[in-house]
Amino acid sequence: MKMQQRTGPFVWMRKTFLVVLTAILLLSAATCGSQATAAQPSKEPVQEMTGNEAPAEEPATEEEPTEMTTTQEPAATGVFDLEKGTVLLNSGYEMPVLGIGCFALSDAQAENSVYWALRDGYRLIDTARIYGNEAGVGRGIRRAIDEGLVTREDIFVTTKMWTSDYDNGDAAVQASLDRLGLDYVDLMILHHSQPSNDVQAYQAMERAMEAGKLHSIGLSNYYEPEDFDRLVDATSILPALLQNETHPYHQSTEMKEHIAQYGTVMESWFPLGGRGNTQILFNDDTIASIAAAHGKTSAQTILRWHLQAGNIAIPGSSNESHIAENFDIFDFSLSDEEMAEMTAIDRDDRFADY
Ligand code: NAD
Repeated sequence: MKMQQRTGPFVWMRKTFLVVLTAILLLSAATCGSQATAAQPSKEPVQEMTGNEAPAEEPATEEEPTEMTTTQEPAATGVFDLEKGTVLLNSGYEMPVLGIGCFALSDAQAENSVYWALRDGYRLIDTARIYGNEAGVGRGIRRAIDEGLVTREDIFVTTKMWTSDYDNGDAAVQASLDRLGLDYVDLMILHHSQPSNDVQAYQAMERAMEAGKLHSIGLSNYYEPEDFDRLVDATSILPALLQNETHPYHQSTEMKEHIAQYGTVMESWFPLGGRGNTQILFNDDTIASIAAAHGKTSAQTILRWHLQAGNIAIPGSSNESHIAENFDIFDFSLSDEEMAEMTAIDRDDRFADY
């Protein structure tokens, strides 16, 4: 694995980065208190990184923060806070770890699903240019804002650049913003690896990040460490997130370990197995018995597993009661033994073929 081939200078840079990032996190905690870290200065260290530099796996305090109150302690990049339901990205922004997915929803369905989700407490929304529902997603967001349920700053909107737009990335970013009716999106990711021009597309997202149109940027559907590194080595800003098919039968263990060196977090698409496959997972003996033990549904058990395993989850639904059910997972937890049982059912097998 490439990571293991890296020697002296890499280790030195990594240590240097650890010290710098720790100092910045401490400084930002002291000046910002418990505010979400979505402040312009917190992006600086990431913008200065090259693809050869690695962020800290655990950039937490190296000295004991005895004087600090709990709210002043800086969060560690990539570590899930399941009390708050957030994770700190390597871009310096906080991201909710459970969201609503909008794949295969019509504009009207997306509007309702997003509105119901925000009303129920979700703060993360996942859409894509190719889903054809960015306008509906934008309407759902505006409905919730107009009714005073949330503010723009409360929510985290993700969209994706489609492969046919990779040669015209700057325009693609603006077109997504226009369809969503937003001044910025919290995260834009390249929808698929495409070696012929994904670096060019990623560089357009880097420019948009510099211009404040995007807060964080990342990738989707990169399944080989070498492919991920190809992109990282050719670009300046580390991906904040990798969104890949991830669920109990495809736990993405190798890629999660690989991207952790960059402070990049995993986000699960098909968190419940995807349309047509959910019953396979819901009826799995291990999942069903853990669910029964907690008085929860299999869907809730799988989603809770994702969060405890360190996967951001974005279950898709146009069903109002399923949307509520999927967010009702913060009042129980899987034991270490149950997490080990879930690990054991991994088949390293994807449902999709793209
Ligand atoms: P999913 O695993 O979230 O499953 C969705 C299916 O589960 C739907 O049929 C839905 O009706 C059903 N469901 C949801 N909650 C349920 C519940 N509580 N009980 C019973 N059934 C329930 O699959 P998905 O929606 O395809 O994936 C999640 C999100 O990931 C998408 O909406 C999209 O935002 C994203 N995604 C990204 C990619 C990519 O290439 N990057 C690909 C697919 C999906």
